[in-house]
Amino acid sequence: MMKKNILLIRNYLDELYENPRCELEYNNDYELLIAVMLSAQTTDKSVNKVTKILFSKYNSLDSLASADINDLKEIIRPIGNFNKKSLNIINIARSLLDNFGGIVPKTHEGLECLSGVGRKTANVILGELYNIPSLAVDTHVLRVSNRLGLANTKDVLEVEKKLKKSFPKESWVKVHKQLVLFGRYNCKAIKPDCNNCKLQDICKHNKKLTKVS
Ligand code: SF4
Repeated sequence: MMKKNILLIRNYLDELYENPRCELEYNNDYELLIAVMLSAQTTDKSVNKVTKILFSKYNSLDSLASADINDLKEIIRPIGNFNKKSLNIINIARSLLDNFGGIVPKTHEGLECLSGVGRKTANVILGELYNIPSLAVDTHVLRVSNRLGLANTKDVLEVEKKLKKSFPKESWVKVHKQLVLFGRYNCKAIKPDCNNCKLQDICKHNKKLTKVS
């Protein structure tokens, strides 16, 4: 993509989301890790509802490591996939205590050996928790990147590589958060707000819609 278009995108994202924030609620490192793991296939809003109950009832890694799985299942049932996610919570807590001194690791290798933690979650944690340059590609980032022509593939690793080439390293963490918010509130999967979007001229998706109508 042309440099001037990248600049347009960056400026517009800055205009919309100058100080983008992660919308998951957490009080410490392991709460963020568990919240991000729980957020797979659901919304941050739904996760915040269940973690409010979860983390007030189980307020330490020790208590999570020895939690009754059936109780966890009941708490997180509303977000779906609760059998696997409950087990992940216990395994993550145990693994952090047993192998990492109770601290969330700062590397891909360390993070990705934890239950339910893949590359996307690891990237979010590295950026949000440790401000280590990383660019997580979730469903919003994937969709927006393809619509804007920043990428032309559904392969998330390829999209991550493309984005990393297009944006300066020091902006990766911020750009990730901006693209998530832009996808969540502006460039939505269904009925994106194209009429009010300043990227219409460079947007492939908008061009397709214009041709059809
Ligand atoms: S013009 Fe529409 S589809 Fe394109 S980036 Fe803007 S909101 Fe998204």
